[in-house]
Amino acid sequence: MTLTARRIDHILQDKTLSAPLQAIAEKILNDERITPEEGQLLFEKGELGYLGALANYQREKRHGNRTYFNRNFHVEPTNVCLYTCTFCSYSRLIKKREEGWEYSLEDILDIVKKYDGEPVTEVHIVGGVLPQYDVKFYTELFKAIKKHRPDLHVKALTPVEYHYIFKKDKVTYEEGMRIMKEAGLDSMPGGGAEIFHPEIRDQIAGGKCSGEQWLRIHEIWHELGMRSNATMLYGHIERFEHRIDHLEKLRQLQDKTGGFQTFIPLKFRNQDNQMSHVPESTVVEDMRNYAISRLYLDNFDHIKAYWPMIGRNVAQMLLSFGVDDIDGTIDDTTKIYSMAGSEEQTPAMSTRDLVNLIRRVGREPIERDTLYNVIQDYTDHVFEEDEQFKGYTALPVVNR
Ligand code: SF4
Repeated sequence: MTLTARRIDHILQDKTLSAPLQAIAEKILNDERITPEEGQLLFEKGELGYLGALANYQREKRHGNRTYFNRNFHVEPTNVCLYTCTFCSYSRLIKKREEGWEYSLEDILDIVKKYDGEPVTEVHIVGGVLPQYDVKFYTELFKAIKKHRPDLHVKALTPVEYHYIFKKDKVTYEEGMRIMKEAGLDSMPGGGAEIFHPEIRDQIAGGKCSGEQWLRIHEIWHELGMRSNATMLYGHIERFEHRIDHLEKLRQLQDKTGGFQTFIPLKFRNQDNQMSHVPESTVVEDMRNYAISRLYLDNFDHIKAYWPMIGRNVAQMLLSFGVDDIDGTIDDTTKIYSMAGSEEQTPAMSTRDLVNLIRRVGREPIERDTLYNVIQDYTDHVFEEDEQFKGYTALPVVNR
């Protein structure tokens, strides 16, 4: 019997487990969908071992030991922003814009050109919202990137930016997303979702697009035959019912379009923002949240732990709690989470680092492109650097 099967068997034999949790476990093992009420119960009563075993069962059923990563870099055109989201440590208000940065199209192209000849497959572009970054700016940017490097996947902007620029330029969502596709946009990242429920969203992200508008823009993008990701910012002032409401809305849209690739829970960090008084969630709560996300979003292929936000050690543990993707090499090109106090102050990992991080917990590292096409299986790959260390003798005390 495999370790996963033993863990599941242990759950089913556990006489102390309540009947409702036992029933949920059986549903999950039979691939039946759990209801919002059952999801709520998992948040309220599901213990870490129980949730982890079930989430890992689902993870291994879908992906075995395969764990995905990609080689990417981020470009953040500006950290000055019209909005004042209370959880945001990254943005600078317009009246203090001299403290931030505002890149021109040429500045951004220069950043992209720094990766000429490097085996990166994706540029991830998100940032603050300002009037000069409009439909014209972004369409010219996407076209220029594609002209310079046609094979580079452009994953850019969230409904927060799209809602703003389409409104400003008086184009409908449908027209706007079609214009972006024609300009070279390949996919949309999952940001800006925060918590959809207005009771929370109005308090933490008032003024920017609503939950319905976020979902509608993704729906339109999916109807164009394109793919995107989804996120949830958790662990601040929301309650479990708001998380379930959020997951349920994503699950319903995914039933309709099938256009989401991966779900990324994002942990609220409390450094240097308007919610610094709100304590951060514990690692145990983080792990429970990832596991429940895996169990609830039964129509999402992938659950991703974004390592610059959660830290590489927790990301490694999460590979046994439903997660099958840990994002990319990043190359120290995002400031969004380091400025909010994450453990990763200069987020960058070489491919070798990422591969070894995955291997050390017994998983198989697979480099993917943005659309999850396999680029290289690193399971048995030997890096040149590893070759150089072959002559070293293992410590006898460890080998005994
Ligand atoms: S989260 Fe985004 S929209 Fe909100 S203030 Fe920060 S940069 Fe602006």
